[in-house]
Amino acid sequence: MRIHAIQTGQVAVKKSQQQGGRGDGPIGLINTLLDSDWTEPLPIYAWVIEHPEGLIVIDTGETARTAEPGYFPGWHPYYRWGARMFVEPEEEIGPQMEQSGLPAGEVRWLVLTHLHTDHAGGLAHFPQAQILVSGTEYEQASGFPGRLRGYLPNRWPGWFQPHLVDFQPDPVGPFPESYPLTQAGDLCLVPTPGHSPGHLSVILQDHGLSYFFAGDVSYTEQTLLDQVVDGVSLDRQTAQQSLARTLEYVQAQPTIYLPSHDPAAAERLTAQQHVIHA
Ligand SMILES: [Zn+2]
Repeated sequence: MRIHAIQTGQVAVKKSQQQGGRGDGPIGLINTLLDSDWTEPLPIYAWVIEHPEGLIVIDTGETARTAEPGYFPGWHPYYRWGARMFVEPEEEIGPQMEQSGLPAGEVRWLVLTHLHTDHAGGLAHFPQAQILVSGTEYEQASGFPGRLRGYLPNRWPGWFQPHLVDFQPDPVGPFPESYPLTQAGDLCLVPTPGHSPGHLSVILQDHGLSYFFAGDVSYTEQTLLDQVVDGVSLDRQTAQQSLARTLEYVQAQPTIYLPSHDPAAAERLTAQQHVIHA
């Protein structure tokens, strides 16, 4: 199976969002926003899997429309103080897939790890795909309460009507629930809440190797190994549990760990480099 890393531009966030914040819940978030240190621009990855059952896309990256004045709500503290996007039109996922000979119109399944703007920003390219998102995430992201939480439901395409994932009590390693996507049983979704309330991850098994598409479970492989809760997770305990389960998984299986904003993720994919742990 071929797996492609598609980088849809870059995002800079506060260092304490990436490396772990100070304080619990909203206090931690406020401390992150007040942090004066920015990360370097980080990649925004989406992933395309050429699976025998059809093209599978994980996340959609960000849109170049973010450069339009007023695209982000200026009244929202996170958009005012927390993040900067750098996306050119040709960096959107649609044009990049077209260029690679994998037209977005041919995608069978689009799985969203969560609905933050830099994962859902490219939705407009996928009107034909079956889109999967966790029910919790969709509910938390919708409507004005969703906008207060930092989601942009007002930017979703009018046709956006995702299939809401209902996790089954089928354990996958340390994850007590899962949702099988392919007939072959080689690709499943697992709940990894914390960074956002309905965050999920995708596990693909191919030739004895696991590919763990982690979304924002951690920002880098190192912060997974160090079990660092990021500086925007409101529910630290839940985030900690997802980090612990993910670490347990990658320690038990040879795994290539692919978070969305790890500058080294695409190289690890190319080099087929497993998580190395002590
Ligand atoms: Zn996120």
